[in-house]
Amino acid sequence: MQTSFTLAQLADPAIQASNEILRKCVHCGFCTATCPTYVLLGDERDSPRGRIYLIKQMLESGRPADEDTVRHVDRCLSCLSCMTTCPSSVHYMHLVDHARAYIEETYRRPFFDRILRRLLVRVLPDPKLFRWSLRAAQLGRPFRFLLPARLKGMVAMAPKRLPRASATDRPQVFRAEGSRRMRVALMTGCAQKVLDPKINEATIRLLTRHGCEVVVAEGAGCCGALTHHMGREDDALTKAKANIAAWHREYEGEGLDAVVINASGCGTTVKDYGFMLRSDPQWSARAAIVAGLAKDVTEVLRELQLKPTGAAEKLTVAYHSACSLQHGQKITALPKQLLAEAGFAVRDVPEAHLCCGSAGTYNLLQPELATQLRDRKVENIRSTGADAVAAGNIGCLVQIGGGLARDGGPPIPVLHTVELLDWATGGPRPAALR
Ligand code: SF4
Ligand code: SF4
Repeated sequence: MQTSFTLAQLADPAIQASNEILRKCVHCGFCTATCPTYVLLGDERDSPRGRIYLIKQMLESGRPADEDTVRHVDRCLSCLSCMTTCPSSVHYMHLVDHARAYIEETYRRPFFDRILRRLLVRVLPDPKLFRWSLRAAQLGRPFRFLLPARLKGMVAMAPKRLPRASATDRPQVFRAEGSRRMRVALMTGCAQKVLDPKINEATIRLLTRHGCEVVVAEGAGCCGALTHHMGREDDALTKAKANIAAWHREYEGEGLDAVVINASGCGTTVKDYGFMLRSDPQWSARAAIVAGLAKDVTEVLRELQLKPTGAAEKLTVAYHSACSLQHGQKITALPKQLLAEAGFAVRDVPEAHLCCGSAGTYNLLQPELATQLRDRKVENIRSTGADAVAAGNIGCLVQIGGGLARDGGPPIPVLHTVELLDWATGGPRPAALR
């Protein structure tokens, strides 16, 4: 695609990067067929190709973002399905991230939108605030009919029972069982440890049982993905730097073989830290090291070679491939292979390339589209006839669990892949299966 940025515009490294991305797009439209919003809405402006064109116009003009462009960029899930399909290797993720930051800088959203976004940016990445807000939502549930539609939906989404915070999430070191084969840092995250602390507990048991020393590093926290995808660049970079400092300290100190991430949405962002901080001379080298160390938990488990005990009892598991894992990190077969080797009968979910509608804060900001995608995913999962669902991202687990609980069908437990692998290799049977 031809672009017409001025030399002055191209002096900005962000414009320069987007210019290179835009020039790769040949407008073939292959990506439209696998884009969830195009599949639902059938509008070219809600397809990757249409959005690329809108973003090009917005950036070239140098003017503040207009309402139409904001509407169609906001509807993008950042699921990255288009990147998997694109034959020209167009890096849509970096382009849309730039567009969101540009919109945040130049566009004044309606009042309620601004308040809602500020609230999400402040609350979700902070485990203490998030916990309190979920408690408040539980208390407010009987009065939700008084709230505006979007807040009503959010209150309804709050879990009925909130698990206690886990002691494993505090900074500490978990020694390897037997001789140490690896030393890794575990990213314990933000929202995940509030919604389901069992995931980090299962990850630590699984890793230590297979010879890994696991460090929960002092100073590490939210990866910044939530705010990054809302265009809050400064906030996202502050969070990224805190993590880089914490993990780089461990790397320089006792050494690290990997930074293990068990929420694939976060993993995609941490693996991109090198790009996010490429123009910052103080941070770029350390960011690149940390990005190189970042691994999805399944990548580390492959290296460790799990030892199944036979506990899996041939449970049939439908594997939901989180977009951030399959499209963002190109990890598709590995989790299924690990589950199968551990003794589970694994089933693929039809239309696996389509997002479940969770997508970070998408289900809170675009509830209508998110619900349509969720219901479609749940129908596809039910068609597999599986006994349980496994996925590697907390957002998907909550979204799919909510859909399965609401569609009137028989209950199907939804678990993180590591909970099943932990059980199959000597850990406790997951509570959801009891
Ligand atoms: S498939 Fe790639 S090259 Fe073709 S229109 Fe989509 S982004 Fe552009
Ligand atoms: S990221 Fe997903 S929703 Fe956005 S344009 Fe690409 S395929 Fe469509």
